[in-house]
Amino acid sequence: MEVVVYPDPRLLQKTVPLAAVDAEVRAKVAAMFELMYADRGVGLAAPQVGWSVRLFVMNESGDPARKEFERVVINPRIVKKAGRVSGEEGCLSFPGIYIEVDRARHLSIEWQDLEGVVHRADWSDWPARIFQHEFDHLENVLLFHRMSAADRIQNAEALDELRRAYQEA
Ligand SMILES: [Zn+2]
Repeated sequence: MEVVVYPDPRLLQKTVPLAAVDAEVRAKVAAMFELMYADRGVGLAAPQVGWSVRLFVMNESGDPARKEFERVVINPRIVKKAGRVSGEEGCLSFPGIYIEVDRARHLSIEWQDLEGVVHRADWSDWPARIFQHEFDHLENVLLFHRMSAADRIQNAEALDELRRAYQEA
């Protein structure tokens, strides 16, 4: 398993709900956490490893030792959004690129975990930002799509470099 980097079309493949958790799913989730920590990320969505299901993993601390922050988010829903806040975001599928993205400040959300338990929560700020970024991946919305015209100009060289690397690979 490896992180799929822009402009790989697997990032834009339609995702389907995850129907059941089996040993294969658990193994993939464990591998996703490893990749996320290896790349110093705080979230990784299934399409970013070429797996087109509605699942992502996150750890808002980014610290593999802080297991209490690890979340496996399956078939998530955003029930309510409130407030706006701008903040810097990167993406493991856009290495080296960071842009300001407007997000809802507060979220009411629902998801299932690996045991099938349904969680309902109200999150704000940093974890809410991560949730929205990863949720975007499940909707095939990428950091590129969140860029302003100015962002695209400013990051044109870096984007060209990613496209060149993809062509050569
Ligand atoms: Zn991302």
